[in-house]
Amino acid sequence: MEIARETFEKLQQMVNRVVKSPRSDFYRRKFAKENFDYASPISSGADIIRIPRLTRAELAETPPFERLYSTNEHLDSIRYTSGTTGSPPILLFRAKVNYGIPGRRPLILFQNSHVDAYNARLSRSAQEPYFPPLIGHPGNTYTVTAALAKAYKIDAIIGIPSRILALAIEMDASSRNKTETIFIVGERFTNEHKRILVTSFPHALLDIRYGMSELGCPGYQCDILRKKTDIQYHCDENYLLEFTDLDTGAWKKENTEGEIVVTELSETPHQLIRYRTGDAGRVVNDTPCACGAAFAFEVTGRINHDIIKISGMMFRTDEIERVIKEFPEIEENFRGVVETRQIGTDKEEIHFSLTIVLKQKEGIHPYFLEQLKQNFSERFFLTPSKTLADCIQEKRISSFDVFAIESFPFETKAQCLRLIER
Ligand SMILES: [Zn+2]
Repeated sequence: MEIARETFEKLQQMVNRVVKSPRSDFYRRKFAKENFDYASPISSGADIIRIPRLTRAELAETPPFERLYSTNEHLDSIRYTSGTTGSPPILLFRAKVNYGIPGRRPLILFQNSHVDAYNARLSRSAQEPYFPPLIGHPGNTYTVTAALAKAYKIDAIIGIPSRILALAIEMDASSRNKTETIFIVGERFTNEHKRILVTSFPHALLDIRYGMSELGCPGYQCDILRKKTDIQYHCDENYLLEFTDLDTGAWKKENTEGEIVVTELSETPHQLIRYRTGDAGRVVNDTPCACGAAFAFEVTGRINHDIIKISGMMFRTDEIERVIKEFPEIEENFRGVVETRQIGTDKEEIHFSLTIVLKQKEGIHPYFLEQLKQNFSERFFLTPSKTLADCIQEKRISSFDVFAIESFPFETKAQCLRLIER
């Protein structure tokens, strides 16, 4: 990947900012612990790779105020992030909102608490006041939200893919036809999602961004990318994006999937440097686009959705699939969650849960799931010779649960397996 000289300069400035900061020694401690010599200049790809990566767990361990690099007057919003990846909430501040509010009457599909904060800020700072104020999504029932959308004659929708898709089902044709802009951010967005949205909202411009609450939106689409069927993004100049090897953090070749690692190149409250997003992606085209952007990339899913290795045991997607196929009662979709919790210095509690969809929706005997759980654990191998049942017996696994649900509403993330470290 070709990196512009000014990108190196900005990165150097951000590293200088955190290592010289009187406000926080978060990075000084981190760099010292990981033997990174921050005094040596950053002028090549090899220099970047030497900078230690930052994990979500590290952020969660340190209270936000102790890793804050901006002064109070630069902060104007507080955000919690948690939910989709299952880690504990992290309180985050952002110095500026990274996206403009499209449309005159936008419906913002975040929770009401977020919307209240937006409204408060808009009424303080917007040159052109918004009326009516942004409308929040009141909860999980999209019928109410769709009725609000109709009553307020909204012309734009802002939200994450799964929520917009759920809302689309409930909105009537006239409200959908009036929608001019759909601003989509977050989660992996698939071609199929795009197809549904184009059909449901025939007059809407789809403004699709790749982003996350910790960082804002590093990925955007130009007009050329918008016309493509495949969802590809350019990288915003305020960010450095790397597609990296999971173990070493080294760069992957073009077209090869790697973990997306993001660095904020402008001054931000928490100044995330080489932040591991947990998303997988790849550079699809590194010749410059006609719009001027240096390369295009796509987001392919989440990392570690194929295999989770822990304490000598392996939770493999293909092994779960193999066992699930032995049960004609279960549909193919499933989600496995491995949750770990450190107890003491060398001991770890490991919980495994499997969420499945049963073909028969009603009249299931309560004992059936218990039986299924037992049968599954006796067939599912975690090492070449030990089944899940063996590992539970040996207390290497603390608990195993099976949950049956009606269906997975929207598969926005291709993650069959995920790991939650607490
Ligand atoms: Zn372009």
